[in-house]
Amino acid sequence: MKPYQSLSQIRSDLNARKTCAVELTQLYLDRIQKYNDQLNCFISVHPEQAFAAARNADQCIRQGISKPLLGIPIAHKDLFCTKGLPTTCGSKMLQNFVSPYDSTVVSNIRNAGAITLGKTNMDEFAMGSSNETSYFGVVANPWDTSRSPGGSSGGSASAVAAGLVPLATGSDTGGSIRQPCGFCGTTGLKPTYGRVSRFGMIAFASSLDQGGPIANSAADCATLLQAMEGYDPRDSTSANVAATNCGDLNRKLKIGLPTHLFKDLDGEIAQNLDTAKAELTYCGHEFVEIELPHSDVASATYYVISGAEASANLSRYDGVRYGHRAESPVDLNDLYRRSRSEGFGAEVKRRILTGTFALSVGYFDAYYLKAQKVRRLIRQDFLDAFESVDLIFTPVTPTTAFELGSLTDNPVEMYQQDLYTIPASLAGLPALSLPCGFKDGLPVNFQLIGRHFDEATILSAAQQYQGRTSWHESHPTIFESSDS
Ligand code: GLN
Repeated sequence: MKPYQSLSQIRSDLNARKTCAVELTQLYLDRIQKYNDQLNCFISVHPEQAFAAARNADQCIRQGISKPLLGIPIAHKDLFCTKGLPTTCGSKMLQNFVSPYDSTVVSNIRNAGAITLGKTNMDEFAMGSSNETSYFGVVANPWDTSRSPGGSSGGSASAVAAGLVPLATGSDTGGSIRQPCGFCGTTGLKPTYGRVSRFGMIAFASSLDQGGPIANSAADCATLLQAMEGYDPRDSTSANVAATNCGDLNRKLKIGLPTHLFKDLDGEIAQNLDTAKAELTYCGHEFVEIELPHSDVASATYYVISGAEASANLSRYDGVRYGHRAESPVDLNDLYRRSRSEGFGAEVKRRILTGTFALSVGYFDAYYLKAQKVRRLIRQDFLDAFESVDLIFTPVTPTTAFELGSLTDNPVEMYQQDLYTIPASLAGLPALSLPCGFKDGLPVNFQLIGRHFDEATILSAAQQYQGRTSWHESHPTIFESSDS
């Protein structure tokens, strides 16, 4: 068995008994053991539980039981609560936290038969675009280990890109699945807000957070999405909608091109995107110019709203109920102050401070309320555009993977990373990031945004594209000599 097999290939090998779940688990755990020191993709790895689940899966396969992910190894971003295993959210605050229950995403995926190998590294509380804010150290990009894998789902994207696991979960609030997939050359989907349950997914900004799949292809993302999604009464914003069904791969679509977003784009990235457009045109789709007039204020809007929601969500970490607790507090205020000061890192503190400011008396109307109004306009821009197009095509990131450390002193420039991903987040729309080439040996992805709950159209167009191209089958070569 080799890494980087498609899910359908793994499935048919499992069914034909050419491999078994235990062998697959061993293959990927060996790779994790071999490469995780260099990449730091995993915060924790759980071989004992994985092998127990693999033996169980093999027994089910022998009995002829069929489940969509039966026997397939997976890694979970370390913000999905996993019963009995640590869930740190990349923070010292939750360093020793072991959840007493599973998040719905984890239990849905387990019920689909997948085998959890471990929990992946991430920016602390999912705040970041580089995986450098994790308490558990930076993650490296397997295409060039001096570079960032992106964030905040950088551990998941890097692990899939390096072939340490065939599938991983991620979460996306403003770009945290799509941007790391862009930096690592993997395929990742942020579903429509409400499609995937947030129950047991540690909250950053509740009106934006959405779990989603990261994999080697759109077809594999579709399979994982189908396992993750579904109405959940334990999440009050969960949507009761039909399951994702990517049936029609031959539909001819109108794809909107917000040309103004490409104005300042790096020339070589733009060239890669042009080639992707040509390929989609060849498939019979038609590009139509559109405008998203408020997209230039999307980042500012996002950082007000997400910070405000984060400041409220993170107030629960007070050293009393769970999480880091300061030693020998003199009184309750001292307990709160020191537990929070010691437990949170600098970026999380920055978000709590700015978010609290935006919500404070006297500033609420000027910041939070204004941002909510602008958010409404951004959403309306998309709804207007979708009157005449089926999908929207945009870049994912303004640059390819940057050097680790190069943006850490410049939060505002770091926030610009999300320029192209944030608008769809604010509008609650589904969006896929998928590879279309390289610049100086580093991956370039493009983004397809769809109508609310129309993941199927995005995924079928992407499968059609990936059926004609092989960018998603390019893998980093830095490990090749030690592999052979
Ligand atoms: N980079 C963005 C931020 O730091 C998005 C993070 C995310 O999507 N979780 O807020």
